[in-house]
Amino acid sequence: MTHPFLDLAPLTAAHFAGIERRVASLLSTEQDVVIMQGEALLPLEGCIRSGAVPGSTALNVITGPYGQTFGDWLRDCGVTVVDLAVPFHTAVTAAQVREALAEHPEIDFVSLVHAEAATGNTNPVAEIGEVVREHGALFYLDAVASIGAEPVLPDAWGVDMCVIGAQKAMGGPAGVSAVSVSERAWARFAANPAAPRRSYLSLLDWKARWIDGGRKALPHAPAQLEMLALEACIERIEAEGLDAVTARHARAAAATRAGALALGGGLEPYVYEAADAAPVATTLRSPAGVDASELVAKALAADPTLPLIAGGGALAKEMIRINHYGPDATQGVVHSSLAALGSALGGTGAAVDLESARRAVTDTWLNA
Ligand SMILES: *Cc1c(COP(=O)(O)O)cnc(C)c1O
Repeated sequence: MTHPFLDLAPLTAAHFAGIERRVASLLSTEQDVVIMQGEALLPLEGCIRSGAVPGSTALNVITGPYGQTFGDWLRDCGVTVVDLAVPFHTAVTAAQVREALAEHPEIDFVSLVHAEAATGNTNPVAEIGEVVREHGALFYLDAVASIGAEPVLPDAWGVDMCVIGAQKAMGGPAGVSAVSVSERAWARFAANPAAPRRSYLSLLDWKARWIDGGRKALPHAPAQLEMLALEACIERIEAEGLDAVTARHARAAAATRAGALALGGGLEPYVYEAADAAPVATTLRSPAGVDASELVAKALAADPTLPLIAGGGALAKEMIRINHYGPDATQGVVHSSLAALGSALGGTGAAVDLESARRAVTDTWLNA
């Protein structure tokens, strides 16, 4: 008997190229798109090692844990790193980026995370892109947590390397990922003697062996199941409409925020301003004296299917994350997540108003 996962015809180069084109259209980009055969950390690291020239200076914006990782890679590449760190409860501003660039005119690479699922903030990439382009630096963007949840427009924003993954708001697989690469970025990679070549991290290999060869022959066997899953999730997004998908995430975030505020009991949005809050996931600050990971554990004991998690590392005691993304960006999931958190919080003796939370979610979902 043929097995649906195991007995597949090989994925052809034409099929692969077709999936690539659909990813490009998701990004509204005319740039080359490379679908890397691994989780998003592969293109994230590959782009830094390709674009960061030893002895150069980079601006690394830190609004969450991924920014920290990028800074480490850049330093590892022999780059002098200027870190611009902002508190996790806010977003970076274009003015802060402008100031950092003015202080260090030698900066020729800027790394930024668009939305941080881990901290719940989102950064104004369009405005920052203008500043970076004016300065002339190469602009690297991690859009893994924003793609599907809010607009991601590398061409309009002047992003030279825009990395996406399907595992968050796209509701797809984690095992393949993609990056759009501008002409400027290709030129920088080619001129960088330290850029990976003949390596799994190499983007230049994909250019030489796949793109420049007219996308006729794949450099190695593709991750076939993951490629098919990526295609399926793009088909699902196209059927719903990308705008409808992002609108659903915006509603989920707004409704969660409003519902948490109405719930009371000392629960507060972790990100102070709604405009800085990411549509992909909402972070909440647990009330004084209440351990966030214990609260989440209690809520999950009542319903283990809810997309709740405590903050990572040092944030585990104070941050609650509601991952209302992909198939979980629904009114039902927002209602149940807040109801479970509310009941758990009520169990600690806090005064919570489940009915107000419910009304706030319903009203906001309708009107957001
Ligand atoms: C989720 C995410 C990634 C991908 O990392 P995983 O933890 O392996 O899913 C990369 N960057 C950002 C900003 C993310 O939110």
